[in-house]
Parts: sequence; structure tokens; C-alpha cells
Amino acid sequence: MPAGSVDAAPAWQQLTDEVARCTRCELHRTRTRPVLGVGDRQAQWLVVGEAPGAEEDRQGEPFVGRAGQLLDAMLRAIGLARGQNVYIANILKSRPPGNRDPAPAEVAACLPYLERQIALIRPRLILAVGRIAMQNLLGTSGSLAGMRGQVHEFGGLKTPLIVTYHPAYLLRKPEDKRKAWEDLKFARSVFARLA
Ligand code: URA
Repeated sequence: MPAGSVDAAPAWQQLTDEVARCTRCELHRTRTRPVLGVGDRQAQWLVVGEAPGAEEDRQGEPFVGRAGQLLDAMLRAIGLARGQNVYIANILKSRPPGNRDPAPAEVAACLPYLERQIALIRPRLILAVGRIAMQNLLGTSGSLAGMRGQVHEFGGLKTPLIVTYHPAYLLRKPEDKRKAWEDLKFARSVFARLA
């Protein structure tokens, strides 16, 4: 560890243990395992999705199903790779049954964990994928389409936040992949200009 830097490992361990034991919402009854997040804990990029799906619930890792493969391809397109300068997490750590939208009480219970992750990682840029991530990180009920192409800010550190389509949506609506590519290029250019 470089002199003067703070060892974040105990805080991560504490967070991991708390999430593993978490019973703050009813989803703990139906999940197979909680999904904290994956990747480089010192990453400059943070990707935030919605909630674990069936495969993620089984494996304990975010974005490992078909949507995850597309997310990996999207990241590769801007020179990023899972685990290298990117951390991937979700708004919820536990799978909502049937992949329904997260309930407000579930988000309220779970978001503090993500906020702690963000405080530990201190990413330079957050990419919110999909409406649920966007709405809950920005505290807005706006549409995703209306929030694209702008640099928003997250939290007290005013971390730049950019939104794009969720890969699961893009699998259903491949004609919007072009717009997602525009968002990714925009994010890359914003990142390159960060001081
Ligand atoms: N969709 C998400 O939003 N997150 C995952 O981890 C998987 C699918």
C-alpha cells in the first residue's frame, strides 16, 4: 500500500459481510445470493444497472447473463474490460422475483450500500444503464431518452454521471444500439476531458 493511502480492505469486508447477512427488505427471502458488485475497486469507471436477474442470482455476480455479454461488448467498444478500470454494480443487491421493477422500499433499503461502494471506489465517471438506475441515482422520474447526451452529477462529490440504455432493453430493441453507441462515445469523450 502506498504511504499515506488509506487501506479500504476492512471497509469492503464489512460491506460484503453486511450485504451477505442483509435482511433489510423481503428480497432476502427469495434470493439465492446477494450480488454486491464486481471489478476493480479502484476503477475510474462505475457502471450501475438495475438488479440481479436469474443468472446473476445463481452466480453472485452482476451482468453475467445475455445482457451482461452485451454490456461487456459495449465496454470493449470504448476500450474497457470487466475488472480493468471498471466496477459494475446494481441499484439492488438482491433479485426481485420474476425480474419485476424494484419497489421503492427495496431501493430505499439497498441504495445506502451502493452509496458506500461509490464512496470507497470514488469513480471519476458513473455510467447509469437503464431507466431504473438513472431515476434512482439522480432522484428523477424523467425518461431515459430525455436525460441522454448530458453530464449529470451524482452525490456530494458531484461525480459526473452519464446515462444510456440498459443492455437487456437493447437486446429487445436492437435498433436503439446506435443511440447507445452515441452515448458511449459521449461518455468516453467526457472522461477524456476530466481534469
Ligand atoms: N440486469 C441488471 O440490471 N443487472 C444485472 O446484474 C443483470 C441484469
